[in-house]
Amino acid sequence: MSYGNVHRFLLRSVASRGVISMPDALRALTQFTGNQFNIFTDGEVESIQDLIKEINDTIRPYQQTIKLTNDELTNEEVLIFLSLGYDDATKAQNVFSANELEFFRLLIEQIMITESRQVTRIHAINIVGGMKSSFTKTDAEKLLKTWCRMKYLDKDNNNYALGVRAIHEFEGYLRQNMPDAVEECCLCKQVVFRGYNCPGCAMAVHTRCLNRYLEKVEKWPCCKADYSADQIEQMNDR
Ligand SMILES: [Zn+2]
Ligand SMILES: [Zn+2]
Repeated sequence: MSYGNVHRFLLRSVASRGVISMPDALRALTQFTGNQFNIFTDGEVESIQDLIKEINDTIRPYQQTIKLTNDELTNEEVLIFLSLGYDDATKAQNVFSANELEFFRLLIEQIMITESRQVTRIHAINIVGGMKSSFTKTDAEKLLKTWCRMKYLDKDNNNYALGVRAIHEFEGYLRQNMPDAVEECCLCKQVVFRGYNCPGCAMAVHTRCLNRYLEKVEKWPCCKADYSADQIEQMNDR
């Protein structure tokens, strides 16, 4: 399909929300066009994957991309709007100003060095005390709210964790700057933020990947140590 209204509609839908679930995206497309859409091309049915590819070819020069992936937290298939190029100062930064980026990076660091991978609201706001740029606590509070809405952060009670969008957008930054804090899943090799560490060899694994593996073999996938549901319960209690 040549680039047109349908592409622009999908791009706008994903970009304005930051993250959209696959079923919601397919429903919105079907409503907008009156045609049936599916993930893959299937006879008469049009493919959302082809659309995404065509959109990405167009927005690549602006350092943007739509990524089709699995949300580690909700286990749902999602489309994420990503602004890339934060590691290169000469590239356009569409979402963060320099001050905001400094705050966000410090916040990521704080989140990554805690074992639970989350920080309290007070902890997050106090970060401004250590910043080079002049930034007030009120600014910080406003940004935390905005970033939750944009899916850069995930708020759970009074704690902030990295949202699905930040996990994918800042993956390169994290691997480069905090290699010790970044663990790879022993099955899919993607970064693990919330998963399990094997009690036998301590390697990390996504909850989703582990569950899929356990359907076939009742062992830890990394070192083949015996698996039991009690181990998971104990880890969840910690
Ligand atoms: Zn995995
Ligand atoms: Zn192991």
